[in-house]
Amino acid sequence: MNTRNAKLRNIKLWIFDADDTLWESGLYFRRAEEDFTSLMHGLGFNPDELRTEIHHRDIERLSVTGYGARPYMATLRSILEERVDQITPYMVDSLDYISNCLLHHPLVLLPGVFDSLNRLFTAGKRMIVYTMGEQDHQRDKFNRSGIADFFEHCTVVPVKTENTMKKLLASAGVTPDEACMIGNSPRSDINPAIGCGVNALYIQRPFTWQAEQIEFAEPGLVTTVAGIADILPLAEVG
Ligand SMILES: [Mg+2]
Repeated sequence: MNTRNAKLRNIKLWIFDADDTLWESGLYFRRAEEDFTSLMHGLGFNPDELRTEIHHRDIERLSVTGYGARPYMATLRSILEERVDQITPYMVDSLDYISNCLLHHPLVLLPGVFDSLNRLFTAGKRMIVYTMGEQDHQRDKFNRSGIADFFEHCTVVPVKTENTMKKLLASAGVTPDEACMIGNSPRSDINPAIGCGVNALYIQRPFTWQAEQIEFAEPGLVTTVAGIADILPLAEVG
């Protein structure tokens, strides 16, 4: 065990990202994107060009509206309105359907999540959920997850930054080196955490939003794991 992993034995607060760390999320955004590009393809537009446009606007809107299903749907809606002169009830209904599927998607925990959290909880570990997006949408998913009781609380912010991380640590009464952030996004989970001295575990997922895929600010400060179950030996929980 290297020095950094040995330090994880003494962690007092485990901070979990939620979307695509505890449960599936990006999958439903990709479905919305596919449904939208199919709708637009039927109206004569090129799906590949639309995907490029959607991803470009994703990155643009992050600093303006933050993350969330509704801002994402607003992006799709504006792309439709800019390209189609005459919006028909069929198009409105289709967008409403795509929006409803995205906002009320099934809550599917990722493999090993329930069991790992249960063991960490039973071992007396302090855990919180720290997620970004819209308050009501994120809280609705947290409440439906069946794992809410394992956590002290769930904090939702529009965008994760070093400042929001520092506030979180202050409210929990721990120092950065006593905390560990676990997440799937280099941009939102890992870099703001290591930027203020918090330990970081990066969970590799097959699909991560394009806007989230950036380099680690300090690769040497990050431990990469394949899934949540890998936390147990690091936390010395059997
Ligand atoms: Mg995530």
